[in-house]
Amino acid sequence: MAARAGIVVTGTEVLTGIIRDRNGPWLSERLREVGVDPAHIVIVGDRPEDMLAALRFMAEEGLDLIVTSGGLGPTADDMTAEVVARFSGREMVLDPELEKRIWAILEPLLARWPGLDPAALRESNRKQAIVPVGATVLEPVGTAPGLVVPPASDEGPTVVVLPGPPRELQPMWEDALRTDALRTAISGATEYRGAILRMFGIPESEIAASLRAIEEDGVPIERLEITTCLRRGEIELATRWEPPDEDVYRDFEARIRERHADTLFSDDGATIDEQVAGLLAGPPARTVAVAESCTGGLMTARLTERPGSSAYVLGGVTAYSDAAKRDLAGVPWELIERHGAVSPEVAAALAQGAIARFGADVGVAITGIAGPGGGSQEKPVGWVCFHVAERGGASIARALQLPGGRADVRDRSTTVTMHLLRRLLRGEYDAPVTPGAHARA
Ligand code: ATP
Ligand code: MG
Repeated sequence: MAARAGIVVTGTEVLTGIIRDRNGPWLSERLREVGVDPAHIVIVGDRPEDMLAALRFMAEEGLDLIVTSGGLGPTADDMTAEVVARFSGREMVLDPELEKRIWAILEPLLARWPGLDPAALRESNRKQAIVPVGATVLEPVGTAPGLVVPPASDEGPTVVVLPGPPRELQPMWEDALRTDALRTAISGATEYRGAILRMFGIPESEIAASLRAIEEDGVPIERLEITTCLRRGEIELATRWEPPDEDVYRDFEARIRERHADTLFSDDGATIDEQVAGLLAGPPARTVAVAESCTGGLMTARLTERPGSSAYVLGGVTAYSDAAKRDLAGVPWELIERHGAVSPEVAAALAQGAIARFGADVGVAITGIAGPGGGSQEKPVGWVCFHVAERGGASIARALQLPGGRADVRDRSTTVTMHLLRRLLRGEYDAPVTPGAHARA
């Protein structure tokens, strides 16, 4: 059986929702990567009793490993190290060498902030250098050291203590993985293999039906751990298996491929954004420009999210008003008057406008009604027109009724556009795209 782990996220600001927890999910994924099963994520405020209760709950569950986040700073409400020492039955002692190393980080602050009180700084320095006996110290990324604390007797979980700020926690987790103390705690970890299949333009119920059919065909899919999730309008089928079940997975994948050939777009973990980036990078290399309305710049933002995108994204026009569509994206006024700003005709003109304005090889256009309000019976909220075109060449147009509220419509619009762009760049002009919505034009 695989080693099992719990995650204790501390911080009143996380518990109350002022700050969204970025550490629990991140650690959970990292644990899975090394073959440890995450069993629980518990969020507690900055109260020692609550933290202790969470640790004890996880120990009672028989977990092999606990990872904590937060509460390692120099202030009075930072007491994770102390609580973990109590939990593990270990004394707290000053580590003088560690105190010196932390001072080397803090001392330059005195020069930078002349108002700082050296005595107070010394004191917080000392506090952070008091650690449980027998713990492995993880060197500070900020000023707080992390810890790997084995149980005092042979019983009980090992606790990895990490700081709260994600930019400190993440590199320190990598350090923790290299320690003997952590390796020992998860030595029972099973080797897992994993794969992700991504599909677009198919409802989740279809996948459920396929899983049933494949099982009825005699493939022992109970040997696989299959997770289906709907993400940004795409379906992600993530599977994990142990090496002896490799053949079961291969068989399963082949059948999914056969049943969903038209909607399966990725079988190697690559996201649609990565695929589009790769296609634009070439060969042949192509440049792209955007003219968008209801997405308010989100499409340009999404295309430029990846480092290196400046090599192929020339820019975008966010043309919200009719006048902006005419003056900035070159849409003829008559088209807007005759068909309305949200129309396949205007979408086509926007794409050509983007190509002309930026001198791009490929133009991308979105115009729609993200609501609430502004819709009509003929063009309700969620009605969006898409157009992607090559300069002087092929194009793909879609008009779709997208489900959900404003944020969903805007986000889904960028996903639809990514998929249309992928098809255009691959030269697949005629395949229909229906992202869980019906096309009306
Ligand atoms: P510090 O020395 O900065 O006080 P710390 O280890 O004591 O570090 P916390 O006091 O718990 O950490 O959190 C410090 C800040 O780090 C929080 O105010 C928040 O901005 C960020 N942070 C903490 N925990 C999380 C989390 N789970 N998700 C996202 N951000 C977090
Ligand atoms: Mg703190």
